[in-house]
Amino acid sequence: MNSALNILPLNKWLNISKYPFVISGPCSAETEEQLLTTAKNIAKIPNVKIFRAGIWKPRTRPEFFEGVGIKGLKWLKNVKKETGLLIAVEVANPHHIEEALHYDIDILWIGARTVVNPFSIQELAKVLNGVDIPVMIKNPVNPDLELWIGALERINNAGIRKLVAIHRGFYFFKKSNYRNIPMWEIPIELKRLFPDLPILCDPSHICGNTELLQSVSQKALDLEMDGLMIESHINPETALTDGEQQITPKKLQELIAGLTVRKEKGNIDFENKLEKLRIEIDKLDEELIDTMSRRMKIVEKIGEFKRDNNITILQIKRWNNILQERLNNGINLGLNKEFLLKLFELIHKQSIQKQTDILNKKNR
Ligand code: PEP
Ligand code: MN
Repeated sequence: MNSALNILPLNKWLNISKYPFVISGPCSAETEEQLLTTAKNIAKIPNVKIFRAGIWKPRTRPEFFEGVGIKGLKWLKNVKKETGLLIAVEVANPHHIEEALHYDIDILWIGARTVVNPFSIQELAKVLNGVDIPVMIKNPVNPDLELWIGALERINNAGIRKLVAIHRGFYFFKKSNYRNIPMWEIPIELKRLFPDLPILCDPSHICGNTELLQSVSQKALDLEMDGLMIESHINPETALTDGEQQITPKKLQELIAGLTVRKEKGNIDFENKLEKLRIEIDKLDEELIDTMSRRMKIVEKIGEFKRDNNITILQIKRWNNILQERLNNGINLGLNKEFLLKLFELIHKQSIQKQTDILNKKNR
């Protein structure tokens, strides 16, 4: 389903002097001292404009630390006064929003666990109606782009035009190097559908550790994301939540200094060469589609032939042979095995579907 979001560009409400713009601060507010020292140190980094801290923490088990609550909002107000940083907190219910507004919080964000539930989002949208405050919406825990878009639409429909999406990775049932696998194709598709929507990347929750932070942050910039949200703590070893993924303000400064900002566009010569290569790609894609269409027409013929002779659709030996041979061919031509496997599984699935449709047509 197509829709449009009514977005105010980031630079209309945020003074961004240095790319990428960075939001940083601890996973959770713990003490006023922790907030102040962390904030004062990160405020020295020109890229950092916004201080983040969780006050109400959504945790997996009830016995874990669940945030300091409202007293943290008072501390944050003081952080703002002392450092000039804008303040962002996570809100998950209407009461959180009312309290945050009462304490002059500048920016709200909605966490991954809340975005999975349209009922919750609708309740938040209701209290946001008529309020002029920026809202950042993390992707839902599960890799469901529609759900993410739905949350953006509901909040936008409430009149929030200072809207930002945050890509924080997705839950994956298999063990991986990441705490939440990035699935970059999802934020890329979001950008394609809503080119005006600012998208930030949250490498901290994608990585779940500090080792991969640099490379994930770099990847986000290479994909033209607008900024980063990175968790920082004055003493990560003592952190009450997400200790393994938080970095000190000093490490944050090093990380930002180590990023390469590439240009979106090159000079005329570069653009011309790029255009030529793109034309070649367009042509090859056309050929691919044509080849695929011809392949499916033959599959249909085979389907009819099998149906008329009462032969089963799936012939596992033939499929195994095809797969082995195509994989060998492709690997010899420099293609990646995983990619080939996925590609042929997809083609095979579609071929089986076509033949099933042919059988069903006859049986009806
Ligand atoms: C957080 O930002 O600390 C947090 C809880 O994030 P997420 O909603 O992405 O899990
Ligand atoms: Mn966290």
